[in-house]
Amino acid sequence: MTEMMAPKFLRAALSHCLDILYSPKCLKCLASFGGRARLCAACWANVQFVMPPGCSNDMAQTR
Ligand SMILES: [Zn+2]
Repeated sequence: MTEMMAPKFLRAALSHCLDILYSPKCLKCLASFGGRARLCAACWANVQFVMPPGCSNDMAQTR
């Protein structure tokens, strides 16, 4: 049971190593930024989600 509870610093160190290996870059503008997100704050703010009037309800109705 003790190996399940890795010390906090160990997990933080591992997380830091992964961040270096897979340096987080924005998928859209390729800017480097911290954190685990795949989009930087600027691009995330410009994301336009598909809302019900714009999504295809026809697909569901044709079945
Ligand atoms: Zn971006």
